[in-house]
Amino acid sequence: MNIPKSSLSRIVIVGGGFGGIALAKALKGKEMQVVLLDKNNYHTFQPLLYQVSTGGLEPDSIAYPLRKVLQGYPDVYFRLAEVREVIPGSKLIRTDIGDLGYDYLVIGTGSETNFFGNNEIEKNSMGMKSIPQSLNLRSLILENFEQALLTDNLRERDALMNFVIVGGGPTGVELAGALAEIKKGILPKDYPDLDTRKAQINLIQSGNRILAEMSEQASKKAEDFLENLGVEVWKDCRVTGYDGKTVRTKTDLVFEAATMVWAAGVKAVSIQGLNAKELLAPGNRMKVNEFNQVLDHEAIFAIGDAACMFSEDAPQGHPMVAQPAIQQGRHLGENLVRLLKKKPMKPFVYKDKGSMATVGRNKAVVDLKHYRFQGIFAWFVWMFVHLFFLIGFRDRMVVFVNWVYNYIRFDREARLIIRPYKRDYSQFKDCKDSKSES
Ligand SMILES: Cc1cc2nc3c(=O)[nH]c(=O)nc-3n(C[C@H](O)[C@H](O)[C@H](O)COP(=O)(O)OP(=O)(O)OC[C@H]3O[C@@H](n4cnc5c(N)ncnc54)[C@H](O)[C@@H]3O)c2cc1C
Repeated sequence: MNIPKSSLSRIVIVGGGFGGIALAKALKGKEMQVVLLDKNNYHTFQPLLYQVSTGGLEPDSIAYPLRKVLQGYPDVYFRLAEVREVIPGSKLIRTDIGDLGYDYLVIGTGSETNFFGNNEIEKNSMGMKSIPQSLNLRSLILENFEQALLTDNLRERDALMNFVIVGGGPTGVELAGALAEIKKGILPKDYPDLDTRKAQINLIQSGNRILAEMSEQASKKAEDFLENLGVEVWKDCRVTGYDGKTVRTKTDLVFEAATMVWAAGVKAVSIQGLNAKELLAPGNRMKVNEFNQVLDHEAIFAIGDAACMFSEDAPQGHPMVAQPAIQQGRHLGENLVRLLKKKPMKPFVYKDKGSMATVGRNKAVVDLKHYRFQGIFAWFVWMFVHLFFLIGFRDRMVVFVNWVYNYIRFDREARLIIRPYKRDYSQFKDCKDSKSES
């Protein structure tokens, strides 16, 4: 990998996500050699992926070059590499560009979509965990409408304009809200020769309320917001399969839909060598102690979505969201400095800053420790917080300008099929048309 030999201890960080970046920043100028590895050369601001999928933002505005994050840092090296295996006994990692030894290793590889072993759903549904996936979804949404224009089979047309989103967490809620706004404000103008009122947005949740991690008040309000926007919210409904055309559920409810988005769960990225059953908590997360040290591996740490730290205030581990990753990254930075100075490490204490989700224009829900609020003020708070946590002045400015523009113009101009998504539409051709049109 061409990393110079050094008398300093080498800390290898795998993953330039929220946790990895916070850690690399905390180690700036701390008399150690830091190597950051990521399979992408950019950081992804995942909370705004749904806006890329729905044409509200260009992908560049939520991605940030990792080399730029590290500019001016002494003794920090970035390599574009995918880590494939860890060999703890030899303090070595295997990557697609070669092997690398470490003194201390930090795993911050985040999470991936969890299809809970359902191969059919994995094959046919759309995920939204990365920028390429969001661009696929953006293309597919637009391609479906282009296809819908071409058929006079009404049942096929309905299926092409039917969107099913599985998972009523913040991702599902935000995506459903954005699609409903597109249906209302953009589709009638873009497709005057198509009856876009027929487009359906279905949000399916297996539990009895959406935004289940938030307060009941927030769930209720978000559901009202969605229903006012025309989203059909189906609760206590478990999706069991999707063959690319028909969404099956545990009940007798079925949907014919050309698009099913799976936002029903994530699991930590699994790395060979650190995937022994006894090391993993539910969701593939690595069990760590209060210093983020992986069980039985003193020189290996895990942070963020990759880690599961059981504690009194988090008996199931911390939520898989950005704040625990950022706070653990920063905290581990201080602990690694202490460790190298042979001082005792300090336990991690999570400061819960609350949670929030937006449903659309002027509509958001916010739960803070002592306050809960919904509506336009919550929406401003949501926007401010997201702008604040975006990395880089340019990204903040671009997102801000886009939001102002979209707000004033009721528009989303990034609705472009730049990289077409190859979808087999032939299976919709046999839709039995009971109500054909001239
Ligand atoms: C659609 C969506 C919306 C979300 N909305 C919110 C929200 O509103 N608020 C919130 O707080 N959280 C939200 N989250 C969750 C939040 O993004 C994650 O909890 C957070 O990114 C976790 O940070 P992390 O550092 O653990 O991992 P990540 O930020 O996921 O970073 C992991 C990094 O590791 C790299 N990587 C993975 N595997 C390898 C490998 N084998 N080798 C090399 N590199 C690798 C990846 O490329 C990535 O850069 C959302 C997530 C998604 C998907």
